[in-house]
Amino acid sequence: MNNHEVMNGNPQMNGELIVVSGPSGVGKDALLELLFDSLPGVVRSVSATTRPPRDAEIDGKDYHFISRGEFEKGIESGYFYEYAEYGGNLYGTPKSAVDEQRAAGNDVILKIEVQGAELVKKLTPDAHLVFIEPPSFEELEKRLRSRKTDTDEKIAERLGIAQKELGLSENYDYRIVNDDLLETASRLKNLILSLRDRT
Ligand code: 5GP
Repeated sequence: MNNHEVMNGNPQMNGELIVVSGPSGVGKDALLELLFDSLPGVVRSVSATTRPPRDAEIDGKDYHFISRGEFEKGIESGYFYEYAEYGGNLYGTPKSAVDEQRAAGNDVILKIEVQGAELVKKLTPDAHLVFIEPPSFEELEKRLRSRKTDTDEKIAERLGIAQKELGLSENYDYRIVNDDLLETASRLKNLILSLRDRT
């Protein structure tokens, strides 16, 4: 995994910047959908990626699916707040969309991997880092296999990355074990409400 610092964060904005990480298959997408349904004023940053879309994914909603050439141009022009290489593909957070949403008073969720999260904390020290953990490594493997979206080779690669990611979760501000999805969503919602109260 490579990772690169691109632009400086702007500390004068209103909405909170919240990073949500966790190994592939831990349930981040389902969790965030429940969160967005139940809490107004929270939006997700839509990343750009060079990974091809999975079956049900929609361009512009799940990701901006772009070519490596386009991504590289984006890097050069300073389009990305942060970006990283994961499993052979590039993933990056568009800076302007995040800034605009925060300036409008919305809390912005970045669903990104661990090295991107570390960079965000460096660029924007008041960002809040949340790590979603599986109940166990065996459970994670079961969930990844039942998803049926990746080949055995990809699953093995994602599990290898997951092992490393779990080792880095102690650098996060908050850790939540996703045992029961509804309960995890409610804990995440309460966490964001408490962050709003604090500021
Ligand atoms: P997936 O291919 O499963 O959608 O994503 C692979 C990993 O890349 C996940 O951990 C996801 O959170 C992370 N990711 C998605 N977008 C970004 C991004 O913009 N920046 C970084 N650093 N990681 C991202």
